[in-house]
Amino acid sequence: MDKETLEHVETLVAMPFRKFLDVAVAWKEEEGVDFSLIDPTKCPVHQYAMRKGRCLDVTGHTELCPVCDNPMCPTCGSHCVDQISRITGYMQAVSGWNAAKKQEFEDRTRYGVPDAGIV
Ligand SMILES: [Zn+2]
Ligand SMILES: [Zn+2]
Repeated sequence: MDKETLEHVETLVAMPFRKFLDVAVAWKEEEGVDFSLIDPTKCPVHQYAMRKGRCLDVTGHTELCPVCDNPMCPTCGSHCVDQISRITGYMQAVSGWNAAKKQEFEDRTRYGVPDAGIV
């Protein structure tokens, strides 16, 4: 990587996460790249999180990346996220479920616990 590119990358990484997302989305639209077809770890948003340092948050939800449509950490943008949910009595990673179980997961109605502040 030459010096100019490196400086540009450093500028991007120095941005707050939400600002970087705006820049990444604008860039994607300009370039017309379909990132949904690319390995999620190649997504610029994930790359940003890897350079910046991932958070180690355990959150109740994930967000979909506006660039590649894969689940991402809402705090740092890392795409190395796993959703954990209860299946037939056991806690398992959703990524290991079969297609039918994943659909069931999608179809489930979720209830928040307003008093505890958990939604
Ligand atoms: Zn992405
Ligand atoms: Zn994170």
